[in-house]
Amino acid sequence: MNVQLRQILYIKTAQLYTITHKLMNTKLAIKNISESLEEKFKDVLVQPKIEKETWESIRKHVTESSIHPSVVDSVLLTVLKEKKLVDTGISYYQFLAKNNYDLSVITQTYLLQLYEEKRIIEKEDKECILNLYEHFMNKYTSFEINMSNTLVKNLCKIGEWRKAINVIQKFETNDQSFLRQAYNALISYLYDCGEADKAYKYLLITFKKGKGPMEHAYTSYLKYHLKDKNTVNGKIEELFSLWRQYGINPSEQTILEYIAACNDLGWSAKQTKLEGLKCTVCQQELLQTLSDEDYERLCKVAEQKLLLDNLYNVSNPTEIKRFISFINNGKPYDVVIDGLNLIYCNNSGYIMLQQNLVQHKKKGKKVLVIGRKHIECMIKKLNLKELADYFFVDNLSKDDPFILYAAFASGKNAKIISNDLMRQHKFAIDDVELNALFKRWQISQQYTLEKDEQSMKKLTKKAPIDAIVHKQLNYWHIPYMYNSSQPRKRHTVNDNWTCFNMRP
Ligand SMILES: [Zn+2]
Repeated sequence: MNVQLRQILYIKTAQLYTITHKLMNTKLAIKNISESLEEKFKDVLVQPKIEKETWESIRKHVTESSIHPSVVDSVLLTVLKEKKLVDTGISYYQFLAKNNYDLSVITQTYLLQLYEEKRIIEKEDKECILNLYEHFMNKYTSFEINMSNTLVKNLCKIGEWRKAINVIQKFETNDQSFLRQAYNALISYLYDCGEADKAYKYLLITFKKGKGPMEHAYTSYLKYHLKDKNTVNGKIEELFSLWRQYGINPSEQTILEYIAACNDLGWSAKQTKLEGLKCTVCQQELLQTLSDEDYERLCKVAEQKLLLDNLYNVSNPTEIKRFISFINNGKPYDVVIDGLNLIYCNNSGYIMLQQNLVQHKKKGKKVLVIGRKHIECMIKKLNLKELADYFFVDNLSKDDPFILYAAFASGKNAKIISNDLMRQHKFAIDDVELNALFKRWQISQQYTLEKDEQSMKKLTKKAPIDAIVHKQLNYWHIPYMYNSSQPRKRHTVNDNWTCFNMRP
């Protein structure tokens, strides 16, 4: 390891240690302070009005504990928020402001977070939020993420959605992060006050640029559209389509809310499990082929991005050239097999490959096996050569892009056999819509090998394959996640599905 690299690693480790240490210290300090305040000021903190002298002695008490002086006020506000003493916290902030204490952005952020919890916003609260908005907009050129999120939530809470958009814009000009919480609050607010067109505009932005909104926005969407019984069914389907288009799996909370609403509307909606790709409620097999247009779109991008734009990452130009001409001469293939994957999935891998090839040969299928060079001699030895076409890539090359390229070049019906989830290709198709199409293509065209009861391996459509929203006849099948934190997370649990029958 060179000296520079070692220094960087050392610095990074030290930084990580300091951050972890600080966090642990602060967490511990909050716990200690919370306990000591409870002991000493329990009756005082619940009073409607706390005198200046009392606040001073509380602040002194916190300062004397072992925390850094710069975080005294934010720690105290955190403790009050945790104790649900919202008004007391706001009154503490007012005491600081009135007596010219230094108010840091963190302290101001904690005040705004207290306002988020306040049930009734009075005129003076509104003024305070607006003053902070003006202060931040005038004083800073870039915004901190927590402050921006809470400021947007507060501005929506007091009906100032245009100002909320200003905050989002200012933040996103300087920072690449997406303000998911802020958009969520904005969309929810706009639906709640009847501005559906604007809300929809920001809803689309969250799908295109981020992970979609969170529970609040979906609740407000539903609540708004339930007001018009003539259009609500279409609007629910429109949202499901967006989930499908952008590869989103909603949270359990959201899906339960939609199940209840849809059942009230006369649909039959239930949680379900998948057996293989069969829904255990409606007994339908979830098979989904892409439209010709979608397939062409995916195919073009996949061919270009997986191999051609990625030459040196995947292999070398000579090998790629040789491969493309090989495919052009041999295509179309009915089946493309990930040779290594099949061979190394158990001890009798070569026998399994042989069985598989014989079966396909009997059915008159044209098969291509892609493997590494080191398996070539075994293939010859076992006389498997005449059962299929073979392409052996250099041992250092990545074989997945070759498999995908061969399949796409062979047309819409070509199948691939591989237990690989091909997750790394997300980087290659860096577009949420195309990624969703890729998942849908994988679900319909990729087969995996699973153990059945006799311990024999058989081809199946069972997981591990990504879950994505399906529409089939009158049915929507929607996979869900436990929460909304990672709605595009790869999903292989077959239990968390829902079956929506629109015309039972
Ligand atoms: Zn079903």
